[in-house]
Amino acid sequence: MSRTQSTIAETTVNEAFTPESWGWKQDCYAAWSALLDEKPETRSFVPARVTVRERHDYELVCPDFRGRPLFESAPAIVGRFGGARVSGRFEFTAAGPADFPAPGDWVLVDGEAGTPRIQAILPRRSALSRARAGTVSDEQVLASNVDVIFLVFALDGGRNFLLRFLERALVVARNSGAACCVVLNKADLATEEERERALDEARRAAPYANVVALSAKTGEGLEGLSAAISSGETGCMLGKSGVGKSALVNALAQSVVPAQGHSLAREGRVREDDLRGRHTTTSSRLYRLDSGILLIDSPGIRELKLWGDAEGLEGAFPEIAELAERCRFADCAHEGEPGCAVRDALESGALDQSRYRAFLDLAKEQAWIERRSDDRARRENDQKWKQISKLQKEIKKERR
Ligand code: GDP
Ligand code: ZN
Repeated sequence: MSRTQSTIAETTVNEAFTPESWGWKQDCYAAWSALLDEKPETRSFVPARVTVRERHDYELVCPDFRGRPLFESAPAIVGRFGGARVSGRFEFTAAGPADFPAPGDWVLVDGEAGTPRIQAILPRRSALSRARAGTVSDEQVLASNVDVIFLVFALDGGRNFLLRFLERALVVARNSGAACCVVLNKADLATEEERERALDEARRAAPYANVVALSAKTGEGLEGLSAAISSGETGCMLGKSGVGKSALVNALAQSVVPAQGHSLAREGRVREDDLRGRHTTTSSRLYRLDSGILLIDSPGIRELKLWGDAEGLEGAFPEIAELAERCRFADCAHEGEPGCAVRDALESGALDQSRYRAFLDLAKEQAWIERRSDDRARRENDQKWKQISKLQKEIKKERR
């Protein structure tokens, strides 16, 4: 990683370093202000956005906050900095991996040591996270402050558009707090009929999301992609390898005419190694396209594992959540308990078999993660399953 250091004297401060061009939003001031109230000692620190996390090293962009509200006593630090670390105090108070900065985070830094030191994280507007492989109850944030998540699929007739994967991804998107856009790429390879069917399925699975069918190759429908995100917003592409994420990123890079300040082209273009390198690198990074759109890319996001709470699960299956309210037992698992409205709907045909199966699969996976993440929950869960099997035995007895 390059250890770039710039000071105001060296850097032509232009559009490339306005807070807004790095995703600063009006409501970030409120977050900053709240932090100042809570920790008055942070008054002399200044906001920066995390662009890269590489183990304990961070790369930061420090936009120019001079003349902005709340920027009073803080010294100006402007530029890109590699090799930044969290302060000792920060490390000491962090309770787990989720408390450490992630790409996309706004942090407060001090610049006394030359290289900025990370002192605090501004509250996250949204966060994409997952359980870390092999560890218990450790949530790791992969991307923070994402405005739009693009769930990318390919209509190439193979297994690249599977409703089950869409449903799983929707849960994650839903839990993150970011808006969601479902992209059905490679529409050029599908017949009109296949395309309509896929669109229809996706819209039914994601009634609250933006759904577009397009082709990165022919350019058809690309306006649907660029309409979903604007310059200064942060996006994130999620999808299996080969569905066309790189192609779509390049399309987004050209979708908006860049504003003045062409020094940003140097760092703004998607460099070949940004795209190719991601197959080998383990780091997550936030980068800016020529169009001013910000993107966060991380191998962990692309190979996504499910992580979230039941609320998100129910959000992805609104029709089942609605039915579940009429089940006799509040904690009905819809697997044969008496008075289950979900099973009734299934039998009457009002609920789709495949939706029900997908829900159960996800619910089990979810329960597994929750169980794993909390010992007490595990005991409670065991208890519950004991009760269920007892109940089932009783039901069987009754039937005899
Ligand atoms: P990624 O792994 O998701 O980043 O996928 P890539 O962007 O590398 O694309 C994988 C392959 O699909 C490449 O050979 C692309 O040229 C091709 N591809 C991408 N988008 C389209 C499309 O809309 N139509 C067709 N026919 N091929 C595409
Ligand atoms: Zn039920």
